[in-house]
Amino acid sequence: MISFEQALSKLLFLAKKIDIEVVKIEEACGRVLREETISTRDQPPFDASSMDGYALKKLDKLPGKKLLVVGKVAAGASFDGSVLEGQAVRIFTGAPMPTGTNSVLIQEDAVEVENVITIQDKVEENDFVRKKGCDYKAGKTLLQKGVILKSFDIALLASMNFPLLNVTRRPIVSIISTGDELIFPGNSPKPNQIVASNTYGLKALINKWGAIGHILPIARDNKTSLEKALDLAVPADLVITIGGASVGDHDYVNEVFNTINVKHSFYKVAMRPGKPILAGKNKNTIFMGLPGNPVSALVCAHLFLKPLIGKMLGTVELNNIEKKAYLANDLAENAGRKHFMRAFLKNDSLEIPSDQDSSLLSVLQKSNALAIRQPNEKAAKKGDLISYLELD
Ligand code: AMP
Ligand code: MG
Repeated sequence: MISFEQALSKLLFLAKKIDIEVVKIEEACGRVLREETISTRDQPPFDASSMDGYALKKLDKLPGKKLLVVGKVAAGASFDGSVLEGQAVRIFTGAPMPTGTNSVLIQEDAVEVENVITIQDKVEENDFVRKKGCDYKAGKTLLQKGVILKSFDIALLASMNFPLLNVTRRPIVSIISTGDELIFPGNSPKPNQIVASNTYGLKALINKWGAIGHILPIARDNKTSLEKALDLAVPADLVITIGGASVGDHDYVNEVFNTINVKHSFYKVAMRPGKPILAGKNKNTIFMGLPGNPVSALVCAHLFLKPLIGKMLGTVELNNIEKKAYLANDLAENAGRKHFMRAFLKNDSLEIPSDQDSSLLSVLQKSNALAIRQPNEKAAKKGDLISYLELD
């Protein structure tokens, strides 16, 4: 049995950054950027008015002064004439400032009578002018490789005139549930059957993390059925099996991984929940066996699959980051395995339910964090600082 840290680093060692694909900007939200995006122009590309009003010359800004309006300029147009002393140009939001003008008198502060305006209030230089390049300048790197694109990134990239973007292809993940007792939701369970649940939670997480999860038919607890399911699973970047990874008479995952030439990386990890975990690789496909218990499978997915998918995508944003909070209740001494306890974080206080059984989906569903306890860690008291990870 190896430690959690060793298992994670062995698993990540198996993964390579996968290939790039080009997508339209409108389809790029949530994808991992694989190019450095450098602006090729200033934004805004010209000095522009930020209000409706009158473009003024430097000398003409005194309250009470009268100016002749010699033209009009709206967004998308330009004023090509020259503006002399004693003159102004009617201007609208987004229009380029006429040459020789450098401030805007907003229309609320002017009275216009037959092409003559009277300035009502004082105007300072650059008032209501968005200077060329005030948002960003040409040549500036605005986004780095490896970011997961958010909606505001997309808007910024659109303003930079990027219609297409290089992003990582979404990894394909095949999900195989194993067990004679399982049915998929929507079927009628016999008295000795249960409904596959973590399968669906897993697919939801995998998709959320930027990969594409495919749920394959359930493999029954015999070698032939599992081999058949695994045959359907490849090609995929990652194949996940759920359950059947312990050492019981009905657990075949380890054996069948061997049969199909998966080169083992590790088997069994000193952690709770989820000791029976294994991983390996065959050609370009990574194979991972997760425990069957609903909570174990989903917690292990968080701890292992999330950073694994992150590495395949070429981003560090999916790495789990330890934070600290104050315990809301006392905790007994921990046993020999590292323990990831389902917990509820509110403000900076972490409440840890006493029932940590790895079959309790109702407890997991109310949790938003995993408290971390090191092997053999001594008892802790309410108010002590404790490390935790956020749950998605
Ligand atoms: P196993 O690791 O196959 O021994 O499974 C451990 C426990 O998890 C058993 O009680 C299984 O019935 C249950 N289990 C296995 N796979 C799933 C699944 N996909 N959804 C819900 N429960 C499961
Ligand atoms: Mg089983």
